[in-house]
Amino acid sequence: MPCGYHGKILHVNLTTGKLELEEPDETFYRKYMGGSAMAAYYLLKQTPPGADPLGPENTLSLMTGVVTGAPFSGQSRVTAVAKSPVTGLVGDSQAGGFWPAELKAAGFDGIVIYGKSGRPVYLWLHDGEAELRDAAHLWGHFTADVEDVIREELSDRRIQVLQCGPAAEKGVRFGALINNASRANGRTGMGTVMASKNLKAVAVRGHNRPELADPEAVKALAKWGVDHFEGSNVYGLGLLGTAGVVSSQDKNGGLPTRNWASGTFEGAEAISGQRMADTILKERDTCFGCLIRCKRVVEVTEGPFPVDPRYGGPEYETISTMGSYCGLSDLVAIARANQLCNMYGMDTISCGATIAWAMDCFERGLLTLEDTGGIELRFGNAGALVQMVERIGKREGFGRVLGEGSARAAETLGVGRDLVVAVKNHELPAHMPQVKRSLALIYAVNPFGADHMSHEHDPSYKWYPERMAELGLLDPQPLQVLNAEKVRYALYTQYLCSCLDSVSLCQFVFGPAWQLYGPSQLVEAVRAVTGWNASLWELMKVGERRLNLLRAFNAREGSGAEVDTVPPKLLIPLQGGKSDGVAVAAEEVEAAKALYYRMAGWDENGRPTRAKLEELALGWVADELAL
Ligand code: SF4
Repeated sequence: MPCGYHGKILHVNLTTGKLELEEPDETFYRKYMGGSAMAAYYLLKQTPPGADPLGPENTLSLMTGVVTGAPFSGQSRVTAVAKSPVTGLVGDSQAGGFWPAELKAAGFDGIVIYGKSGRPVYLWLHDGEAELRDAAHLWGHFTADVEDVIREELSDRRIQVLQCGPAAEKGVRFGALINNASRANGRTGMGTVMASKNLKAVAVRGHNRPELADPEAVKALAKWGVDHFEGSNVYGLGLLGTAGVVSSQDKNGGLPTRNWASGTFEGAEAISGQRMADTILKERDTCFGCLIRCKRVVEVTEGPFPVDPRYGGPEYETISTMGSYCGLSDLVAIARANQLCNMYGMDTISCGATIAWAMDCFERGLLTLEDTGGIELRFGNAGALVQMVERIGKREGFGRVLGEGSARAAETLGVGRDLVVAVKNHELPAHMPQVKRSLALIYAVNPFGADHMSHEHDPSYKWYPERMAELGLLDPQPLQVLNAEKVRYALYTQYLCSCLDSVSLCQFVFGPAWQLYGPSQLVEAVRAVTGWNASLWELMKVGERRLNLLRAFNAREGSGAEVDTVPPKLLIPLQGGKSDGVAVAAEEVEAAKALYYRMAGWDENGRPTRAKLEELALGWVADELAL
């Protein structure tokens, strides 16, 4: 019996209704660890080149990792990977909550989903059993209601449900997977992929946690976290949630405002984490077994924008995309927009950023009331934001166009192409490359488009020298440079974050810098749970392996350096605040990109080479790419 995992991957063919259990050997688990690396393995193996992301040939994998469900903070994570309807390339998205640990307790490490069901179904996994059940009565309903119905009909209030929402069912490209009605595998349209398969939900419940190799070491790691939490950098994260960084981002000129025209927002304090705590915060929430409790639950009972606490509360990314991106300082409206996204099952980043793009176009006269269906899409218009989110969720009127995302909307309408702030059609999250320059590189080269969780941001190099030294990073660089050392920093921390997304750990709890636990404790965690004599070297290689798998998928699709670009808006000097006049230079990104490819062992087109793939024990991928 393995420690830390069950050794069981469920394969679900929705076309035939056949459910099969695969029991891979220990080498497989040690090589891929779970999460994103394992899911990328199945994507490459099972999805043919050129597959339609919304066709039955796409494969959607939901993977936990070797530490999921163990009794310490940050281990309840799930990764969803499929070909993305947003990027047209690989899609990848993580979420926390209680679902991941419950899937493990139900006796499964992960699920690979193929084909398309002839009618809506949901998957019910419980204590090693798996069955497909009719979901016709769930189709079209809001996420919290679907949870209630499933728990009711299966007579267990503790069932955890991960599902696509009505937006994804209707074909909104950035449909999310929602669990607990408030946690999202938000990015890259994984909910839309699930809906395209006529799979409404995966409900899980179980009582069987895998054995731990060294329970005393696990206990010691958990105790260390409890003992050090109060003095740590994540204590404030617990108090104010991710929204706590709104004020500091603004002060540093790094809060994207009015569709990235500025990095400073006059309404920042009104949408800050402190303001949320002082006004609409009802309580703090957490993920399974996590002491940090960074999740927000907000409630509004009166006024034009009621907010139901069942749908959680807005994160920093949501506050900025729905708030400062849209020039909007109404925290209640933002919380309502967040609720709508969780109800309809949509990525708040793509949704808010796409509306901000449309507002930018409207302000410039590129869009009119006739285009928007009578909605005055001006910066700062709270009513317009909330109305637009709902229209997107329903895929109604102008919402149908915006539900395609900003890049496709610009193409369809033939306006505002240069105002789109996206990479690989994936809207930029709320961290600005202008003030943290390594983001320009990682946004450009990341296989699934702009992502802020793919490496450690620039300030950490200077502020956390001891942890940086664990990765061999000894030469901190200024925030706004993109020199060779910064490229090395970006790549090494990318490998570590990539490993965390594969071992399946929350990047607020484990990481290379400010997080509660540092790199050496990541090694301890894997050792204590699995019993493997793992090393940081081995784990960094897992991260590198995952990155190469994702990149190889794109290469097999014929995609390379030509899509590793930054949007033109980043090249225009920002206006106002601390970052006034600051811009990214196209040449510095191109030079960094070329160097990054060489450091990564890829060719000049950004494709993994056979030598690199062989070095990562991925010779089969090199064969797949015919290298
Ligand atoms: S830090 Fe926050 S997101 Fe991460 S596991 Fe804990 S509660 Fe969940």
